[in-house]
Amino acid sequence: MTHVVVDALMPTYARYPVTFVRGQGTRLFDETGRVYLDFAAGIAVAQIGHAHPRWVEAVAGQAARLAHVSNLFSTEPQAALAERLTALAGWGQAFFCNSGAEANEAALKLARKATGRPRFVAAAGGFHGRTFATLAATGQPHKHQPFQPMPPWFTHVPYGDAEALEQAVGTDTAAVILEPVLGEGGVIPAPPGYLAAARGICDAAGALLILDEVQTGVGRCGAWFAHPLHDVRPDVMTLAKALGGGLPIGACLSRPEVAFGPGDHASTFGGNPVVCVGALTVLDVIEDEGLVDNAARQGERMMAGLRRLGHDAVADVRGAGLLAGVELVEGLAARDVVLAALGRGLVLTEAGPGVVRFTPPLTATDEDVDRAVSRFGDALEVAA
Ligand code: PLP
Repeated sequence: MTHVVVDALMPTYARYPVTFVRGQGTRLFDETGRVYLDFAAGIAVAQIGHAHPRWVEAVAGQAARLAHVSNLFSTEPQAALAERLTALAGWGQAFFCNSGAEANEAALKLARKATGRPRFVAAAGGFHGRTFATLAATGQPHKHQPFQPMPPWFTHVPYGDAEALEQAVGTDTAAVILEPVLGEGGVIPAPPGYLAAARGICDAAGALLILDEVQTGVGRCGAWFAHPLHDVRPDVMTLAKALGGGLPIGACLSRPEVAFGPGDHASTFGGNPVVCVGALTVLDVIEDEGLVDNAARQGERMMAGLRRLGHDAVADVRGAGLLAGVELVEGLAARDVVLAALGRGLVLTEAGPGVVRFTPPLTATDEDVDRAVSRFGDALEVAA
């Protein structure tokens, strides 16, 4: 493993010591040709695996035909993607941007405009992005600290506590914003009934419910989106990450009654033809290859395997579909386990200081899952 570090880059990331040069399916290759099993998938992005031939052909073809015209004009791929996404969700209208933070930024602006109210309620431990508003929505004070003062519009409540949510929501609340599973905050699934309670609380107060499905959406949790698993329909849903198959895209879906009008919001690149063709192909491949069901099946296999390890260093195994987290016992750093796994040819990520996160491509096979669990067991032996 080698590490390309140059002074010309801002040192924003504590990068792992490996430089990848190629990907194929569930595998990554470094510059020495060493093969890694990729159970990070670019942080829950490579749903259909790396370099899927249908995606490569579609994206290259669109790049050769028409890459960009701005949103002053219509393009067929953007219209098709909006129709496809809203058909999958069963509701809504789409606005396209370029990232999860931008999708959430759009959702917050939308709620302000729709309600005329100033404030928002979000979850402690939640993560919504790094722009000022989405950082302020993020319930992780250490991330706010260097950038104070934050926009003061957000109240944070303990995740999963419906009573605390009810107390915090009032007549000045424009929206409640929640993730169906806290992703960056340690892979914590919403307890049963919590999102339905949030829906009721918002309805009673005349506030909107925004569900941030940036990490949980596009099949990750064993359903196209996580919210139907909780039997709720939000007013606004945000997507990003996996939607573009590796190209930058964000989407904000809202009920038509609370949608933006002309001039309210914009993005130069948002929903450009190349990324939209990429996204349409991601959705086609997921459907044609039965990857939503595979995510549910392999998620169960993976979590059962991780639990079966029965390792003393493991405090908890939890998740939804192929978004799983292993909480380590106190004193053991997730980074050390992730580094030990990398040394054994398994790519994982951290979800906070004490949780190792597993987000493989939805194409993962039985063999991939069993191998990842076994390598993770070896990594625990080394790191613990
Ligand atoms: N929302 C959630 C739930 C996320 O997990 C992330 C990224 O990890 C974001 C928003 C921000 O997305 P982006 O990094 O594309 O801005």
